[in-house]
Amino acid sequence: MLRSREAVRTLPSYHPPLAGRDGLRLDFNENTVGCSPRVLERLRQLSPDQLASYPEREPVEAAVADILGIAARELLLTNGVDEAIHLLCETYLETGDEALIVVPTYSMYRIYMMAAGARVISVPAGKDFQFPGGDVCNQITKRTRLIAIANPNNPTGTVTPLEDMRRIAHSAPHVALLVDEAYFEFYGQSMLASRNEFSNLFVARTFSKAYGMAGLRVGMLVGEAEQMRAVRRVSSPYNVNAVALACLPEALGDQAYIQQYVREVRESRARLQRALEASGIQFWPSHANFVLARVGAAASFVESMRRRGILVRDRSGDHGCEGCVRITLGPREHADRLLAALQETFEELGIAQGVPRR
Ligand code: PMP
Repeated sequence: MLRSREAVRTLPSYHPPLAGRDGLRLDFNENTVGCSPRVLERLRQLSPDQLASYPEREPVEAAVADILGIAARELLLTNGVDEAIHLLCETYLETGDEALIVVPTYSMYRIYMMAAGARVISVPAGKDFQFPGGDVCNQITKRTRLIAIANPNNPTGTVTPLEDMRRIAHSAPHVALLVDEAYFEFYGQSMLASRNEFSNLFVARTFSKAYGMAGLRVGMLVGEAEQMRAVRRVSSPYNVNAVALACLPEALGDQAYIQQYVREVRESRARLQRALEASGIQFWPSHANFVLARVGAAASFVESMRRRGILVRDRSGDHGCEGCVRITLGPREHADRLLAALQETFEELGIAQGVPRR
């Protein structure tokens, strides 16, 4: 009988609760209004020829590298950050190697690490989800091959000091360090500038969040040129489709659109955090486009919000996140709707003193 590899047989499956997402989607940290109109315009102009031919990644890669001020050799466009994570696992992990994450964090690290046959070492975050720099260093062994850090982190919105990541990259040259900057635009700090100092450092970015193109599946991985040659060997030459490649330069070209969106999300984030504070709900100040809040009965909360047309995500199953939900922010009008629904839900469930609307 045909049997899958043992690492695959024991793999937990990841089922994003995507079915029937009617309502205001504040559950997946997407852009809540969509991509730049320039991207849509480009989409409308696509020719049958462009769809009939295999996609050419390299010219777009060169253009993106230019915008970032890096060499094209240091950059690989990927099918979302998810593929970048997968490729790093395939490139660096052998069966029995150790791969390290700090929990709670993005679920796909564990899945791709396990699929590659690695032993996943989960280091618990400190108080208030602080990055446990000392514990991480103590857990690195000769078998450690990969460390993945989301910065800002999902689902907490907390950040890791750049100094801690530099210390890890420096002290463990045999370990690939992935700094996943999927939420970079909402934060502003990056490890990209340190890439020339550490040949074991990789930085990932996505166009799924601030850029509003999650459906197109495009992200990127940056690393030292020699290491990227190895990663490129593992990747399919056609990993990013022609539609995504056509749209990417337009998306990057419209920085005014991104800046405006980020500004509005930050304002909404401040409003939500003020509302939670005033209601006595515990939350963790966020540097991303979402906030993690401890509302208590998370499932009832999600359901009550859903009845009011707002989707939020139950994260109570994550390490240290008992009773927590994660709420994505959008621009002002979406924050208005969110805060109104929040007020009603709090009243219905009797869990807070009331939400100020401003
Ligand atoms: N990294 C983090 C930290 C994320 O939160 C997500 C999306 N939830 C991803 C990567 C996946 O991004 P992409 O859509 O580019 O695969």
